Amino acid sequence: MHFRPYTREKRGIQILRDPALNKGTAFTEAERDALGLRGLLPPRVNPPETQLARTLDNLRGKASDIEKYIFLVSLLDRNETLFYRLVCAHIEETLPLIYTPTVGKACQAYGNIFRRPRGLYISANDRGRVRQILRNWPHDDVRIAVVTDGERILGLGDLGANGMGIPVGKLSLYTACAGVPPWQCLPITLDVGTNNKALREDPLYIGTPCERLRGAAYDELVDEFISGMGEIYPGACIQFEDFGNANAFRLLHRYQDRVCTFNDDIQGTASVALAGLYSALRITGKTLAAQRILFLGAGEAGIGIGNLIVDALRAEGVPEPEARRHCWFVDSKGLVTRSRPGLSEHKQPFAHEHPGASTLLDAVNALSPTALIGVSGQAGGFTQQVVEAMARRNEHPIIFALSNPTSQAECTAEQACVWSDGRAVIATGSPFAPVEHKGKTHIPGQGNNAYIFPGLGLGVIAARARRVTNEMFFIAARTLASCVSDDDLAHGRVFPRLANIRAVSQRIAIAVATTALERGLSPLDKNCDVTALVNAHIFQPEYHDHT
Ligand code: NAD
Repeated sequence: MHFRPYTREKRGIQILRDPALNKGTAFTEAERDALGLRGLLPPRVNPPETQLARTLDNLRGKASDIEKYIFLVSLLDRNETLFYRLVCAHIEETLPLIYTPTVGKACQAYGNIFRRPRGLYISANDRGRVRQILRNWPHDDVRIAVVTDGERILGLGDLGANGMGIPVGKLSLYTACAGVPPWQCLPITLDVGTNNKALREDPLYIGTPCERLRGAAYDELVDEFISGMGEIYPGACIQFEDFGNANAFRLLHRYQDRVCTFNDDIQGTASVALAGLYSALRITGKTLAAQRILFLGAGEAGIGIGNLIVDALRAEGVPEPEARRHCWFVDSKGLVTRSRPGLSEHKQPFAHEHPGASTLLDAVNALSPTALIGVSGQAGGFTQQVVEAMARRNEHPIIFALSNPTSQAECTAEQACVWSDGRAVIATGSPFAPVEHKGKTHIPGQGNNAYIFPGLGLGVIAARARRVTNEMFFIAARTLASCVSDDDLAHGRVFPRLANIRAVSQRIAIAVATTALERGLSPLDKNCDVTALVNAHIFQPEYHDHT
């Protein structure tokens, strides 16, 4: 188990003000004497269980999700161990608060709810001094950095520097879901302006109120950041998160073969969606090669998923050109076809020879897909007619409405269930309540990226991998799918229960670290005990004796 390096220099009030060391009312009598805490705390010592119960009670007493979010962030600022104990013990309840959907609302209101800074801000006018800023971070053992420039926050668009809620939230999931020690996690926002005029004009906006930096100046800033990270935190894995899609694809291509990096919106989403598809096929009884998959949305998530499905088909022996014809895309201009002028580069490999279709319904009627995957960020994209058309063509249509947050979902779980007369295999991006239909309970699987990136990241850092490869996401998808039980499937649940997330992440980490070792991407001995290696990195949210 991993312990935080304990500093003996701190005493008294300094300890209570350090969230990493603070135990609040759980400090024992002996610790209160040894650390100069006597009198600074209420006299009664609380066992950690009582403290946890009180905190849970307080959380549940908050009137709205955003108040719960604020309460949890304040707890993290006060007592990190208690925060992670609470989140780990009640992950199904707390994940939607610290991540999607509530984090979306939190980012929209970030300037308003801002209390204490968390993470590093690197602004456009910091060019030339990015290394200095990176050195200001108080921890030197950084292993994972999550960075955003806030251009496409969930499905909510450009939220500029208010997007900091995303790296902060994702890194807390690294610790909660996989046990990556919190002091090894670094949240970063590149404050490069925002094209959201309302935000720029809002006096409470926390970023630099100017238009987005573009072109060479933007690239130079990112380059300075990447090279600075390599120098100051060598070997740290850098996760790109919620960049606009042109930059996301470009930066991934530029850096993925040079440094240890990945883009969660493209690659992590792909892995979770492929895992969901593998589980769905266990319900439909069909093979991946028998699928025709139609996507609504041809951005980071859609193209990422498409590319990983192609890799999966190739692994089954399907030649690449044929594999690509299993995936079809509808974007804001209709069906993506060869004859469409001006297609962006990432869509071209999926632009097939076919007559055009201007709506999703036309495309469903023309292509007879077996699966629909919604990654458009457009609420209501899966209409009743579309779902009914899928249900006419398939005994068990696969309907994944993955857009986040809940307000942007292509359809609700209930709509997909009712409109397909209970036959659809459903996954959603944000959590939806179980649906009762004709006496049966359907539990929609939540295609949460939290199933993949924490475990994958843990595997990468445990193996000290030099690169993050597409193969690792494929292996992670297969491992995640193997964690889905027959009982899960009987309820229509295509992902394991979130309550099991730590065990799932550990299995993914072992599989990913093994891949890194096998592919020569790790400096460690190929024959080392990978399970022990991964377990040695896992942080448990438990108090340690400070006497
Ligand atoms: P993106 O901006 O890269 O892509 C959005 C795509 O949707 C673009 O191709 C755009 O042309 C298309 N689009 C926009 N309006 C449309 C319309 N009316 N009809 C059809 N297509 C339309 O964004 P992204 O990163 O691909 O994310 C898209 C959505 O997927 C977001 O809501 C995001 O939250 C969600 N997402 C979910 C998960 C998950 O559930 N695990 C993971 C990643 C992203």
